[in-house]
Amino acid sequence: MSALMGQMMRMPLMISSLITHAARHHGDTEIVSKRVEGDIHRYTWADCELRSRKVAQVMARLGLQAGDRVGTLAWNGYRHMELYYGLSGSQLVCHTVNPRLFPEQIAWIINDAEDKALCVDLNLLPLVEKLLPALKAVKHVILMTDRAHMPAQTSIENLLCYEDLVEAEDGKYTWPEFDENTASSICYTSGTTGNPKGAVYSHRSTVLHAIVGAMPDAMGLSAEDVMLPVVPMFHVNAWGIPYGAAAVGCKLVMPGPHLDGKSLHDIFEAEGVTISAGVPTIWLGLLNHVSSNNLKFSTFKRTIIGGSACPPAMIDAFQDKFGVQVIHAWGMTETSPLGCVSRLKSKHRELPEAAKRKLLAKQGRAVYGVDLRIVNDHGEDLPWDGKQSGDLLVRGHWIIDSYLNVAKSPLDYGWFPTGDVSTIDADGFMQITDRSKDVIKSGGEWISSIDLENIAMGHPAVNEAAAIAVPHPKWDERPLLVVVLKPGTQATREELIGFYEGKIPKWQTPDDVVFVPELPHTATGKIQKLKLRDQFRDHKLPTV
Ligand code: ADP
Repeated sequence: MSALMGQMMRMPLMISSLITHAARHHGDTEIVSKRVEGDIHRYTWADCELRSRKVAQVMARLGLQAGDRVGTLAWNGYRHMELYYGLSGSQLVCHTVNPRLFPEQIAWIINDAEDKALCVDLNLLPLVEKLLPALKAVKHVILMTDRAHMPAQTSIENLLCYEDLVEAEDGKYTWPEFDENTASSICYTSGTTGNPKGAVYSHRSTVLHAIVGAMPDAMGLSAEDVMLPVVPMFHVNAWGIPYGAAAVGCKLVMPGPHLDGKSLHDIFEAEGVTISAGVPTIWLGLLNHVSSNNLKFSTFKRTIIGGSACPPAMIDAFQDKFGVQVIHAWGMTETSPLGCVSRLKSKHRELPEAAKRKLLAKQGRAVYGVDLRIVNDHGEDLPWDGKQSGDLLVRGHWIIDSYLNVAKSPLDYGWFPTGDVSTIDADGFMQITDRSKDVIKSGGEWISSIDLENIAMGHPAVNEAAAIAVPHPKWDERPLLVVVLKPGTQATREELIGFYEGKIPKWQTPDDVVFVPELPHTATGKIQKLKLRDQFRDHKLPTV
């Protein structure tokens, strides 16, 4: 007996379907961009779709063919959006490159992906001028600006002008349909250990991720929203926001390269931003600016925070001082990135506020399409009791299967080992205690660096804190707290150590505190623990 087949239209999940939907059903909704050139640019989803078609025509005219990779070195802006859609929509692969990486790493990544063309924002041209001789496959460099801003002199032969190319096309282009498993974009992991590795997303994984990412228990994005992604478009596709925004047809505000507190607050207010997304360090800058200038937010209601643990003190500050709801989320380059989001269930409605906040500070529940496990050193499943921690494994529709140009599978019997250590409670709330390489191992027991940092961040004088392992002759490792104080405040070592009393078991309290003017961050805004561990390797703990 043969199964009865479904009798619905078979339409492959194409990234172009997102932008055509936005253009047809939200055609006059705005995309506002702060340009690298300094001014504000405004147009609509309909304009974006038309220009994306022209980008597809440009790429064909340059001789690029299905499967070819095109690199972008660009901030969040409308031209970058056009490349997202114009490249992927025409079966090319949009390879977003993080301009904040070391130049040698950027060259390595562009060569590994074999990018045939590069599209570059105006202020990143000097970087490309320097790198170009080492870029083996690159045949075209397109400067993402208009004729008036083209440099008088450049070492790049035949530097192309984006606006000239786009405006020369007529837009008479029909988005092609092809296999939904075709590659659409590539993003490299930041390579804190070894060379970066390319995660290759598909049309199918991207569209599914966009739909689930917009759901009420994820970002909760709607056509009523004005979304400003602070998370860069070169960091895991800005967490899928350029796609999710098109699916729901919300207004988009693109902040350009300036992400300091003042620039962000100004544009939030000017454009009526209701929702945003970014890593904790960005929000530190914004909160400091708004608090020290006695400002408010008139329209800002929700923000998605992920990429590093969001300290509970940050959730409290946003919620209690400014009425902004924090949505804590977890993910990785390898998970597109959406994995877990911390959203309450109906059963939690009656909980006291403090208990709710405790749940909301966790990394959250798996969204539909992603499943989780935690396992011990022998690969055995650990119970979901919120206490026992183990290696976090994930699988799902938008979780990596293999890396670009790497033969060895990263999977463990079909599951992707994240390198994170976490607990999961009976309601499915996952909580990261550490990245496995950042765990502090004291006398055979593990101390969560994130717990130590979260507590420190709750102290009124602490702006940012990192807890790292320092070698110890008796205990193997003991925690050291590295602290940046808020401008104009003071605190002593004793005071901060005393601050842990009653908040964690005594043996987990840091042995020492050092004060530094600033902490080193990675190109994606995470604290560089490796660098700190090197820096403080010989630190004399008073407990030795
Ligand atoms: P990379 O792995 O290259 O540094 P990713 O952006 O892919 O860059 O980083 C993913 C990692 O970031 C996760 O494995 C996890 O360790 C950390 N991370 C992401 N979101 C959170 C979060 N909400 N809380 C704690 N850690 C997080």
